[in-house]
Amino acid sequence: MLNKKQFYINGNWVDPVNPNDLDVINPSTEEVCAVISLGSKEDTNKAVKAAKLAFTTWKDTSKKERIDLLEKLLEIYTKRSGEMANAISLEMGAPMDWSTDVQTASGQSHLEDFILRLKEFNFDRKFNENSNNRICYEPIGVCGLITPWNWPINQIALKVVPAFATGCTMILKPSEIAPLSAMLFAEMIDEAGFPPGVFNLVNGDGAGVGTDISSHPDIDLVSFTGSTRAGRLISKNAAETIKKVCLELGGKGGNIVFADSYPNAVRDGIRNVMSNSGQSCDAPTRMLVEKSIYDRAVKEAADEANLIKVDQSNKKGDHIGPVVSKIQYDKIISLIQSGIDEGATLAAGGPDLPNGMNKGYFIKPTIFTDVKNDMRIAKEEIFGPVLSIIPFETEEEAIKIVNDTEYGLGNYLQTEDKEKAKRVSRQLNAGIIYVNGIAPDAGTPFGGFKQSGNGREGGVWGLEEYLEVKTVTDWQE
Ligand code: NAD
Repeated sequence: MLNKKQFYINGNWVDPVNPNDLDVINPSTEEVCAVISLGSKEDTNKAVKAAKLAFTTWKDTSKKERIDLLEKLLEIYTKRSGEMANAISLEMGAPMDWSTDVQTASGQSHLEDFILRLKEFNFDRKFNENSNNRICYEPIGVCGLITPWNWPINQIALKVVPAFATGCTMILKPSEIAPLSAMLFAEMIDEAGFPPGVFNLVNGDGAGVGTDISSHPDIDLVSFTGSTRAGRLISKNAAETIKKVCLELGGKGGNIVFADSYPNAVRDGIRNVMSNSGQSCDAPTRMLVEKSIYDRAVKEAADEANLIKVDQSNKKGDHIGPVVSKIQYDKIISLIQSGIDEGATLAAGGPDLPNGMNKGYFIKPTIFTDVKNDMRIAKEEIFGPVLSIIPFETEEEAIKIVNDTEYGLGNYLQTEDKEKAKRVSRQLNAGIIYVNGIAPDAGTPFGGFKQSGNGREGGVWGLEEYLEVKTVTDWQE
């Protein structure tokens, strides 16, 4: 069992002021794999003090100095990626191949892309040719970064790297459920040689360190990824200090499968939802299928779900692992039960444990058909391997159903009609529209409409989140 009770503050690993142990559970075995400490206000204050002091010099570093350090971090991250894949697999249950090729790889690609964007970013611009006004982009200050467990290093890299790049200093509070990848990342940052106080890590829960960060008077920005529930609380707690609040929240993606979609569209949609054991904010969890192909789609969907294997996270292979915790497991099972109780048809999976498994938080890939959009399984973010299939007759009806949700993160559509794809994309209320299964390019913005949040991460938009913009008049060359 790993002892991970220290925090990284001002360039050192230090003991918590008031030790408060918390077990980290391996979701495949339900056994304790590490012990961390939950921090207190005193720990947060120490980290904020260090970050505030470090900001006085870090903000004036040159772009070249920051690029050099980020390139060093990238080199270390690449070298130690095997350790990162093990940590993610252990803490949140990602099977080893997925943990290596997708979860860990996401950290590397964000580092690479932000280095590229930083090289291109102009922090100091002439307003226009006829003006002597100057537009200056300046780091916002001390940032509080609060991250979830489902894509742990992906979310951390999307915040820590642009904060470094723009000259901000920071306190990271990773998810207390999956803190090991974050602590390993802190080791890498230390090894890269970032100055003390620029990056600090304090573990803790939402009610403790999370609230201390969002309400702290010396923190200038909070960037949060997690549930809409916590996003609301963070906004309220931050209001008194008027800090900038960037929110990346939940989702309930719709995936419109038109009759003229490409041949594998239904099966790809099933694989997409079930990957990461259904624990992705932009998962296409409501599949809308045009009536003329509904029967075929339902058969294919159930068949594909039954082909997906569920197994231990430490094994290699293309199976899915457990869901992250007992709390998530219970919540997902009760939502599956609600689908049955509300009259949806269970076409695959269900609330029983997968065959041969009597330990671990494993859930069968589950498909509901004949779902109505006002059922709980179509309205609530389940965050497990569960898909709802809803029939539709017209384009207008499909758009209406997809948009009939409080969320607006990722929506999907499948059609070979180019004009229809553009027309429908314009009508869907979400930050990302995935057309015909094509992933977005590196450096495109990621974020939500409506209650999926107000921030944008990735690329130049991700850098701008951490910058203040200043106008200076009469700038003489
Ligand atoms: P969560 O909201 O329970 O926790 C996320 C983080 O916030 C954790 O570090 C937690 O300790 C902290 N937290 C909880 N309550 C807090 C509070 N009151 N004040 C401050 N911090 C608080 O979410 P989770 O279960 O860890 O993650 C799953 C959620 O994250 C899902 O809703 C998912 O859709 C969302 N998510 C969104 C994106 C995105 O980019 N939009 C990406 C990944 C995950």
